[in-house]
This record gives sequence, structure tokens and C-alpha cells, in this order.
Amino acid sequence: MSILLDPSWCDLRQYVRLEVYSRDGGVGNPRSRIEVVTPRDGVLLRRFLALTMPCVHCGRRINPIRQRQGRAQHLYFAATCELAVNYACARSMDARREYDAVKRAVAEYQAGTTELHEPKLAFE
Ligand SMILES: [Zn+2]
Repeated sequence: MSILLDPSWCDLRQYVRLEVYSRDGGVGNPRSRIEVVTPRDGVLLRRFLALTMPCVHCGRRINPIRQRQGRAQHLYFAATCELAVNYACARSMDARREYDAVKRAVAEYQAGTTELHEPKLAFE
């Protein structure tokens, strides 16, 4: 199941940021991380960290919002088991599809909210 179908997605999507980096794929194949801005609201932060969903590849229950090791204030989204648990899940086609879907949804959401804040053009 995709995170996009989870009821928490409506809250979560406001905190998701796509961060492009090329360490893995090089210039021709840029990859992007799905980062999550740490909510100032401690209750919301705990809710994000407590969230569970099935791994998109094997179905094992996972926590999709994780803290980067050694950087407690940095959160990110992962749709599969951690590498140490099952390496194949993170490299699966299911994972790729889920990350693409999330990136598309975030881009669409951000485009939509930007429009709302843009000043309306005055009619002449
Ligand atoms: Zn898995």
C-alpha cells in the first residue's frame, strides 16, 4: 500500500521536501531524497515517527518516517524495510514506483499551494 493512501498523508505532505543529489547516479541520473521537515509540534513529530505502513515490497510492517543516524532533527521517508533487514526491498521495482509516486504527489501539491499564494493579476 502506498503512503499516499494513508490518512496521515494530508498532514505529512506539508512537511515533505524533495532534495536532489547525485552521489549515487551521477549527473546523468540524478536521484532525490524524500526529506521530511521536523515539525515544531512535538505531538505531530511523535505521530510521524510512530506511523507504520507495510513495506511496499514484502509487506512487513515498517516505520516510513525515520531519523537520520546521528542527526535526530533530520527526518526522511522510506517505503521499504531498512537495508539491514532486507536489502532487496529498497532496491525493488515496488520501491522505485512508490518513490516516483510520492515525488509526483509532492510536486503537484507544492505547485498547487504555490498558486494559492501567488498574487492575482489585476485586470486592465
Ligand atoms: Zn520489505
